[in-house]
Amino acid sequence: MTNSWQEATVVSVNDQTPDFRSIILKPKKFYDFKSGNFVELALRPAQGKLPRTYKCYSVVSTPQEIGGIEVGVKLYKDGALSPKLFKFKKNNKLLMRGPLGAYFVWELSKRDTVLIAGGSGICPMISILRQYNPGLAKMYLLFSTKQGSVYYEDELNRLCSEKNINYVLIQTGKNGRVNKKIIHGRFGNLIGTDTDFFVAGPTGFVQDVSLWLRELGVEEGSLKTDDFET
Ligand SMILES: Cc1cc2nc3c(=O)[nH]c(=O)nc-3n(C[C@H](O)[C@H](O)[C@H](O)COP(=O)(O)OP(=O)(O)OC[C@H]3O[C@@H](n4cnc5c(N)ncnc54)[C@H](O)[C@@H]3O)c2cc1C
Repeated sequence: MTNSWQEATVVSVNDQTPDFRSIILKPKKFYDFKSGNFVELALRPAQGKLPRTYKCYSVVSTPQEIGGIEVGVKLYKDGALSPKLFKFKKNNKLLMRGPLGAYFVWELSKRDTVLIAGGSGICPMISILRQYNPGLAKMYLLFSTKQGSVYYEDELNRLCSEKNINYVLIQTGKNGRVNKKIIHGRFGNLIGTDTDFFVAGPTGFVQDVSLWLRELGVEEGSLKTDDFET
């Protein structure tokens, strides 16, 4: 891992929905990382200056994907950085730092895993699902997102079917919001077993879900949260 800024080139962009695109970036130097890590991205500042605005983006790709570092970006039309990232094209350059992050990290193991993602919180989960080996342990995914904003929809359906992942999609506007009863109903029987819980997404979502999990008896050591601060 590194804390220094380096130049990265856009290899490709893929507009998945009107408010979400994935971007593959090729940094000058690749560093080791784990699923759950994030990179910081910034526009290139004037020569000799440090970037003023930079934001974190979870790595979607896996360490085995050597063609580039993939990130997924949700568009905030009035945001400082994401609208600019939506203008990027192949071969454009920006600055990247990382991968970073030591806490929200998933590694192959024999422990079962529950992933609970809100909106763009699906990004680090895709990296985990790509790496997951169904021969080792069980995997559960709950993805809550707005109707029409099912990011990585085709890949999710394919991975969950191929790897026998227990997947539920909750689209607010169609199925309502996630609540404690839903979390208890789907995962209550896993609490107290060898299961790790990963929660990622906007602040309110992460706060609510992690509070419910703690109230239901999930121990601190089994709960990892990634608060996107949005
Ligand atoms: C560890 C981590 C991982 C992350 N991973 C991802 C990821 O994989 N994908 C992803 O899309 N995002 C991710 N994020 C979020 C990302 O870093 C940015 O916060 C997000 O892209 C918004 O940045 P922005 O500059 O476009 O918008 P911002 O300028 O941050 O604005 C976001 C929203 O807040 C509002 N806002 C900002 N400032 C104010 C203010 N002063 N008063 C009122 N409203 C305000 C804006 O109007 C806008 O609606 C992650 C964040 C963290 C911390």
